Parts: sequence; C-alpha cells; structure tokens
Amino acid sequence: MIEHTSILNYIDGRHQEPTNGEWFENIDPSIGKAYASIPDSEAQDVEMAFQAAKRALPSWSNTPAAERSEWMLRIADAIEERLEAFALAESIDNGKPVSLARQMDIPRSVANLKFFATSILHWNSEAHSSDHQALNYTLRKPIGVVGCISPWNLPLYLFTWKIAPALAAGNCVVAKPSEITPMTAFMLTQICEEIGLPAGVFNVVHGTGQKAGNAMVEHPGIKAISFTGGTTTGAHIARIAAPMFKKLSLELGGKNPNIIFQDADLEQAIKTTIRSSFANQGQICLCGSRILIHRDIYDAFKKMLVEKTSAMTVGDPLLEGTKTGAIASEAHMNKILSYIALAQEEGGKILCGGHRVVVEGRCQDGYFIAPTIIEGLGPNCRTNQEEIFGPVVTLQAFDNDDEAIALANATTYGLAASIWTTDLKRAHHVASKIESGIVWVNTWLMRDLRTPFGGVKSSGVGREGGWDALRFFTEAQNVCIALE
Ligand code: NAD
Repeated sequence: MIEHTSILNYIDGRHQEPTNGEWFENIDPSIGKAYASIPDSEAQDVEMAFQAAKRALPSWSNTPAAERSEWMLRIADAIEERLEAFALAESIDNGKPVSLARQMDIPRSVANLKFFATSILHWNSEAHSSDHQALNYTLRKPIGVVGCISPWNLPLYLFTWKIAPALAAGNCVVAKPSEITPMTAFMLTQICEEIGLPAGVFNVVHGTGQKAGNAMVEHPGIKAISFTGGTTTGAHIARIAAPMFKKLSLELGGKNPNIIFQDADLEQAIKTTIRSSFANQGQICLCGSRILIHRDIYDAFKKMLVEKTSAMTVGDPLLEGTKTGAIASEAHMNKILSYIALAQEEGGKILCGGHRVVVEGRCQDGYFIAPTIIEGLGPNCRTNQEEIFGPVVTLQAFDNDDEAIALANATTYGLAASIWTTDLKRAHHVASKIESGIVWVNTWLMRDLRTPFGGVKSSGVGREGGWDALRFFTEAQNVCIALE
C-alpha cells in the first residue's frame, strides 16, 4: 500500500517542490480520504520547466532516432518490470479496479512507449519528382518545446500516448497530468531520474488546470499543445492558443451511440454493450452512452441488458474480483448523480441503478455509483445531449436505418460509434454515414495504434496515433531543388 507521499515536479532532470511551497491533497476515491499531496505549481514552475526543455532541445533534437528510441524503450521496460506497483497506484489514484489497470492501463502505457520508440525508426518522408524540372522532398523537423496535458480517466495510458510521439520525434516536453490522478506520472519521472534520461528532455509540472495548465497554454515558447480532456476546457485552450498560432491537437468529449440492429448477434452485442457502457465506471471517452435499438428487438435486448447490469456488483477496486470500482472524484460523482436526477426530471425512467452505492468496510466513504440504465427520453433532451462520463446509459428505439443514423448523429459530439449487425452492406453504409472519428462494427475498443484516433464536431480537432501523431509533433518543410 502506498503511504502518504509528496508528489514532486520533475524539472531539469531533478525532482523538485513547487516554488511557491503550496500543495493540495490527492484523494483516494475508493475511501474518500487524502493519501498524497500534489504540488500546486504555477507559472514560475512552468517557466523553469520550459527553460530546462529549451536548453535540452539542441542536443535531444540532434540525438539519432535510434538513441532516442533506446531511451524510451528503457523507460517502457522499467514500467513493465514494475507493472504490479503501477497497476496498484493507478487503482488507488483513480478508483478503477486494479485488475483493469493491470490488464489495460499499464500494459497499454508500455505499448504506447514501445510503439512510438520503434515507429520513429521507420519514419520517412515524401519526395516528389516534378517531371524533370524539380525534385521536392519534405523534411520533418521537431517543433521544439511542446506541451502535453492529459485527463484523469486513463491516467498513464493517455499521458504516455502524448509524450511518447513527442519525444520520439525529437521534441522536448513540458507535461501536466490531471491533478486528480498524478501518481503514475510521478512514478514515471522517478524512472526517468533513475535511468538518467538527459536533463530537461522531459519535464512534468503537477498542479491544477487553472494555474499550471493555463500557464503552459499561455507560454509563448511552448509551440504546440496536445490536450485530452473536456470540450469546454478544449475551447478555452483554443481561445488562448489561437492568437499565438500554436499547433493544437484537441481530443475532447463524446456522447457515443451504440447501434443495435435487428440482425445483430445479440449475445455478443449484449456482452460488449455491458463493457462499452460501464468499463472504467463509464469513464472512457469512447464508452457508448446512447444505446439505439431496433424496435423489433427493443424489449428483448432491454430485458437482457437490465438483467445483466442489475447483477453487476460495485466494490473495492483493490479486490481481485471487482469489475466496477469507484468514480474518480467526489465532484465527479456529484455531477453524475445530478445528471441522473435531471434525467428523471426530463421524464426518463430508471430501469436499474440510479443511485450512490455504499460499499461496506474499508470503502464505506468512497464514491461509488450503481450502473444505471434509463429509457423514455427523446434525442434532444439534455440527458441525451450532454456528456455525463459515468456509468449511465440511455435506451432509444428506432424503426429503420435512416432513423438510426439520424439519432446517432443527433448530438454536437462525434468521437466514436459502435454498430451491431450481421449485414455487411448495412455495416458499410451506416459506418460511412456516421459523423464520428471512429466506428466499430461488431466490437468496441479494439485498437490498432497505427490508426488515426480522434473526433469530429465538438469531440476535437486533429488526430493522434501512428504517423498522425508524429506528423503533429513535427513541422514539415518542403525543399524544392531545380533540376533544369
Ligand atoms: P478536464 O478538461 O477537466 O481536464 C483535462 C486536463 O486539462 C487536466 O490535466 C486539467 O488539469 C487540464 N486543464 C483544466 N483546465 C485547464 C486550463 N484552463 N488550461 C490548461 N489545462 C487545463 O477533463 P477531465 O475531467 O480531466 O477529463 C474528462 C474529459 O476528458 C471528458 O470530457 C472525456 O470525454 C475527455 N476525454 C477525451 C478523450 C479523447 O481521446 N477524446 C480521452 C479521455 C478523456
């Protein structure tokens, strides 16, 4: 068990206290108590991190890709060796089941680092022979000092998803994990210090979005911001960054549809829908929160889904058998509960869940909510328009493909969708009509790190993953040589 720890900033290769000497509490949401303190860093810490990154840049950006790759692989290996400690820390910090952190969050963080550490070895750019008059080729140069800001739902997973391509491409990084879940980022920097990663290449400033995060976005020397978080925060960041012409990658919220057609393999659809609704307590941006069901199978699907969901137990995240853990913070729990109340005010009927759960014993003061299914609401109400980001889904019926597509597209969001059908033509047709960055057919959360990842509409700007991430973290320069 982790004892009360002081998380420290990692600047210029050293762990440091915040310059203002201010701290705030890090809460374990499964017990509702503080167990660590977090630096309440401000602009001067960001400035120190920026200056360290700037000093390190000439050397790191000129370090051969193979050497940068080696550094990143060393970090990945060290996390892998401590997988159990990282999984435990992630579970305590976030409230997610330790089994999920062990199976998904930490292995995936290792995979992110390895993926980009090796991608960079195969990274090439284009050449265009312009008839016989000229040869054009594209240089892809690191941007310089870049900022990475990540959320609390998949803490190390999304943190590494950003810093890995940034470092691989030769940038120096100033990063800020969420103040709700900073622990595994701190453990990552302990590894960087241990292995002697060159000072200043990678810096982590802990603290709130309003102070530390904002200072990163406002800093004129930080030339790009890769941000994952809420849509409102993304809009705020875009407003500050746009006049400075910073490069921006914004991965934002979602209100994803999960469309079940009458010809779907119902057993598979139910099994995966339970996961896509409630995995990580519904706190994955890709979770399907609006379940759209063909009217012919609506009652049968609803009955099975409600039965299986009602049988789910919410419990101590540290117990091996627990599949549904705590909500990440008290404020977030209250937000989710307020949306459940709103759904009822809007005329929704709670089919199961709908309330806070007290887990007896160690976790009696923790923040738990029962998996919740709601029906009877139309597409335009707030419950079906706004991101709840918790274990809450709604059911809506449709009569034909066109109606399913219209319902799927009836929000301002456009991150991901799942389609369940055994009709290949229907799958292709519907997928192409859905306004979202990602469409899964007969599956959910199946990821290949080479594919473009991101949303349309209010779900974001830009794509992460594969070459898209390396393109984001580099500037293209075309060189044109006259041949005549
Ligand atoms: P959030 O926007 O509150 O915070 C995200 C990060 O931004 C945190 O590190 C926070 O400290 C920082 N931040 C907050 N205000 C800031 C400011 N003014 N300037 C700079 N940084 C600031 O989001 P959250 O509550 O941590 O995460 C949940 C949200 O993230 C949900 O909307 C979810 O859908 C979204 N999300 C999206 C994806 C995706 O890939 N599209 C993935 C995971 C989560």
